[in-house]
Amino acid sequence: PELQQVRRIVTEIPGPRSLDLANRRKAALPAGLTSTAEVYVAAAGGGIVVDVDGNSLIDLGSGIAVTTVGNSAPAVVSRASAQLAQYTHTCFLATPYEPYIAVAEVLNRITPGDHEKRTALFNTGAEAVENAVKYARAATGRPAVVVFEHAFHGRTLMGMTLTAKNQPYKHGFGPFAPEVYRAPMAYPYQWPSGPDNCADEAFRQFAQLVDAQIGADAVACVVVEPIQGEGGFIVPADGFLARVVDFCRDRGIVFVADEVQTGIARTGAWFACEHTGIVPDLIVTAKGLAGGLPLAAVTGRADIMDAAHPGGIGGTYAGNPAACAAALGVFEEIETGGLIDRARAIGDLITRELRDIAASTDVIGEIRGHGAMIAIELVMPGTREPNRDAVAALARHCHQNGVLVLTAGTFGNVLRFLPPLTISDELLTDAFSVLRAGFATL
Ligand code: PMP
Repeated sequence: PELQQVRRIVTEIPGPRSLDLANRRKAALPAGLTSTAEVYVAAAGGGIVVDVDGNSLIDLGSGIAVTTVGNSAPAVVSRASAQLAQYTHTCFLATPYEPYIAVAEVLNRITPGDHEKRTALFNTGAEAVENAVKYARAATGRPAVVVFEHAFHGRTLMGMTLTAKNQPYKHGFGPFAPEVYRAPMAYPYQWPSGPDNCADEAFRQFAQLVDAQIGADAVACVVVEPIQGEGGFIVPADGFLARVVDFCRDRGIVFVADEVQTGIARTGAWFACEHTGIVPDLIVTAKGLAGGLPLAAVTGRADIMDAAHPGGIGGTYAGNPAACAAALGVFEEIETGGLIDRARAIGDLITRELRDIAASTDVIGEIRGHGAMIAIELVMPGTREPNRDAVAALARHCHQNGVLVLTAGTFGNVLRFLPPLTISDELLTDAFSVLRAGFATL
């Protein structure tokens, strides 16, 4: 059924049915599981989420960067449904099937670099990141992993160890995995000596950590998001990532790009690495890969991927056939729908709207991102001090008025926009008029 593509609020947010569900939830679910906006979903598609009270909300979150091709996109639904009717699961480790291979072939083709590649499939971003580390260690025989400040790589033991932020991801959950080291991120807006020095100084500190503190011959891999997602859509300073890649290649360190949030057309390219021209050794994808069905992948150099011994890699559900069929539907939607260009156009529209809003407020410190992955960092007027309260107030205002937004940032002071690429210009314009009104209330 086609959902009417219009914002419409017919109850308080959350409405009575959502409140009923919230009460059931309180009795049945643990407190550590939370939701950004407690409106319970009845349907979603295009750029709209309809809740159980009949409210239609504009979707600027895509289920945290997952439904890039839209919720229930036609090619995803038809291919996954057909697959479900055929067989739901056999376990690729027991008896394999073709859709898994087809997904691997596409990822090997569309990821950066024309070297020989292999792809292994997993269920979640965190699981794929863990396996990228396993491949890197197997290929190098080295233990250490280097990550960056503001990084997010998942919630499993290795995932949360690689993640930078204590609250809410790590607090009380240690001890963490050993041999993980953290370098400063080349974060231009917050770099102490200013954005012009950022790439050089951040690279020097990274190089010193590896060469002088850990020892390069102990480092298996560097794992980095080409644009940091949960960290606040931090775009590394120009030239930083390319220098890290060269440095790694020089020392036999595997360079792993975590494109879980940035990958699969989100930023106006298949992969965010394309914006800087870097070619990672391993690239991790998830989220947008299968339109909402759980699927993740590690794609990379054949010699590294082949270094793990037979039987050493896998999982009961990893590469589930319905999820693989959905991924093939995602690729089809992106290619036939011109969605990479659409991501760029969405980025232009959002940036225009935000610049316009920024002209009349003194709390927007920076607008940044690529394509349909744009954020604003909010600061105290006249400073670069984080303004978390403004973000919380704006998010509340947006939710109450039917616009679903997400927050981000180590200090909670970033508002991020990740609309599905199927959203209309009209809905986007309407959503930013709501945001503009929110700024007027600050
Ligand atoms: N890496 C990055 C860059 C992510 O943004 C996320 C999820 N926000 C993950 C890894 C973890 O993915 P998942 O939640 O599927 O485990």
